[in-house]
Amino acid sequence: MQKKRTALVAIVIPLFLAIVKGAIGFATMSISVLASALDSLMDVFSSSITAFAVSASEKPADENHPFGHAKAEAIAGLVQAVLIMVSASFLVYQALRRIALGYSLKEEGLALGIMLASVIFSIFLSASMKKAGRIFNSTAFEASALNFTSDIWTNSGVIVALGLEKWWHVKNADPIISILISLYIIISAARIGHSAISQLMDRTLPREFLDLIGETIRAHRPMAKGYHNLRTRWVGGEKFIEFHLELENELSFREAHDLTEIIISEIRAKIPNSRLMVHSDPEECTKHAKHPPDVI
Ligand SMILES: [Zn+2]
Ligand SMILES: [Zn+2]
Ligand SMILES: [Zn+2]
Repeated sequence: MQKKRTALVAIVIPLFLAIVKGAIGFATMSISVLASALDSLMDVFSSSITAFAVSASEKPADENHPFGHAKAEAIAGLVQAVLIMVSASFLVYQALRRIALGYSLKEEGLALGIMLASVIFSIFLSASMKKAGRIFNSTAFEASALNFTSDIWTNSGVIVALGLEKWWHVKNADPIISILISLYIIISAARIGHSAISQLMDRTLPREFLDLIGETIRAHRPMAKGYHNLRTRWVGGEKFIEFHLELENELSFREAHDLTEIIISEIRAKIPNSRLMVHSDPEECTKHAKHPPDVI
């Protein structure tokens, strides 16, 4: 599975769907199909951002970005979440407008056909984005998978609504179902946005990782006394960990260094994709005061 090819597929298929849905939407004057076309167009846009983020975050660290470029993915996730919320709000607006003004559908057969094709494409895209998210540990692909999963529901919702109105003459089925779908989309987007903001704001690693670090250090008692000034953050798939290691005063410089290296490699083995920066303190040094977090 290739990162760039996967990202490209997520642009090409929605582009095709947007064009066909747009044409059929205008031909049948079906607003729900037009709204769905707009949704696909948003997918083209957000997938392009994902593709950009994926190639940007793959770039190795350089002089100007010594911590790498992984945050590009979080930015893509956030932009995507905002775009999804905007398009969902647009769907709600369209639905309310239809309820207020009234409407009539025609040529639903054509609309049903393209929506059915849309559902199949969305299932395929959502599965391959989910797989890419897992393989590459990428939030951008994960966000993209969620987007296409919600597309399965929006497209199915349009089918159900069109069917209800066409065969059972249910009034307002189309706008009511599209409002429910939009609320679901807004909640999913809020979740993606929250996780992206956590990364951008350097939120600490989950509790279980912090516990692992403590356990690893405690296993080296009595040479290792403890630790302080632990700071962690999670960017893309990489976990940045730094702390001050408190060591027995009587250790030689060589012994202190080697023990520090052992602890670093043990933590690295337990926490995959972690980058560690450890400063070693003699136990005595810590009896006075902890260093302020910005002093190493
Ligand atoms: Zn210290
Ligand atoms: Zn060393
Ligand atoms: Zn120190």
